[in-house]
Amino acid sequence: MAPHDGLPDTRWSLRGYNADGDEAWLIRSISQKLYRCPGCHAEIEIGAEHVVVQYVLRLGGTEHHHWHRRCAEELLLPELSRVQRVRANESSRQRLEDRGRVRSGRPQRR
Ligand SMILES: [Zn+2]
Repeated sequence: MAPHDGLPDTRWSLRGYNADGDEAWLIRSISQKLYRCPGCHAEIEIGAEHVVVQYVLRLGGTEHHHWHRRCAEELLLPELSRVQRVRANESSRQRLEDRGRVRSGRPQRR
């Protein structure tokens, strides 16, 4: 299967780009409450290991979704380009939100 099989895990996150050029960070997480997976529209139970997908938008700002691991692997990852693994400690929510702010502060071209 994919070279990123089993990722993200506690040590490694994944980062790729969607068709709009937004960064998509895939981060392993444990759910603190009930979430609904955008891939299959079923619930992710409290306490379940799953994948947070945090977007850092090309035009600034961030947004995130909670996915089942399998749904993220089957539905989301194939849509992303240039997927690389990155250390999990570089993908904390605070860091990514800061990253989104820096981008939105940048003058926009085109
Ligand atoms: Zn799902």
